[in-house]
Amino acid sequence: MKAKGLQFVTILTFLLAGCFPKPAPSGRVQVMATNSIIGDVVKEVGKEAINLSVLLPPGADPHSYEPSPQDLVKASQARIIFINGAGLEEAFLKRLLENASPNAHIVDLSEGIELLPFEGEEPGEHHAEHEVDPHIWLDPINVITWTNHIASALGEVDPQNANFYRRNAEDYAKKLQALDAWIKEMVDKIPPERRKLIVDHMALGYFAKRYGFKQIGAITPSVTTLAEPSAQEIARLMELIRKEKVPAIFVSASANPKAAERIAQDTGVKVVTLYMGSLSGPGGPASSYLELMRYNVSAITEALK
Ligand SMILES: [Zn+2]
Repeated sequence: MKAKGLQFVTILTFLLAGCFPKPAPSGRVQVMATNSIIGDVVKEVGKEAINLSVLLPPGADPHSYEPSPQDLVKASQARIIFINGAGLEEAFLKRLLENASPNAHIVDLSEGIELLPFEGEEPGEHHAEHEVDPHIWLDPINVITWTNHIASALGEVDPQNANFYRRNAEDYAKKLQALDAWIKEMVDKIPPERRKLIVDHMALGYFAKRYGFKQIGAITPSVTTLAEPSAQEIARLMELIRKEKVPAIFVSASANPKAAERIAQDTGVKVVTLYMGSLSGPGGPASSYLELMRYNVSAITEALK
């Protein structure tokens, strides 16, 4: 009888867990994510078991954002703060950490990811010597690493729901794998000799490496948007666009498109907007990370095929 009862409980648990994953009714964990892309992935793992606040609003440039005093109050209430790391939050990380609760867990999502060095044409001009490329999320396989970090951190602070977080992370990782397969199919439509990217700033390094592109130039030849290009740099880029016969410049939706528009006009190429450092607003074409990647890859394929 005892064995039968146990079996019944096991099946019931399996049914409840497998079909309708629900968090255990513990107090919701207060969580902060520094930007909307991280926030979306954290929400996929934490779902209704967490209370999430996102520091940067959609559309904000992650390289130059200045947090408001209200932002910093929210940071002081979080049990966990998820940051991208790899230098992305450099402009405000110090202030954020100073304002965080002393008990807060700061989780650097770039941990364990192989960071790409920034390969500029002229080292030292716009960037520090050891600068790395922070745009790790533009390779969805890196976001699988994020989901594992997120599930572990949430499970540590809220052990009652550790399995719930783990299951959500696994479900979401499957979607990321499917996204990766879809991107490969899309990129197959672009002839290899046309897989050349010119961008507003060097944001597509991880994307290029995974899917066989070359990031050949940028208006701001830096992994951040903080530097201004010189007249010579712009002239050199225009020469490159003509020589390589690229049909488009890809510009981050959170960047100022003025320089790109001028260069495009003078060289006869198109300006194509991508969502690189932030989601769009809720009604926009990139209101989740999965949509952001689908939107970008469709736009890149359309422009280069
Ligand atoms: Zn960027």
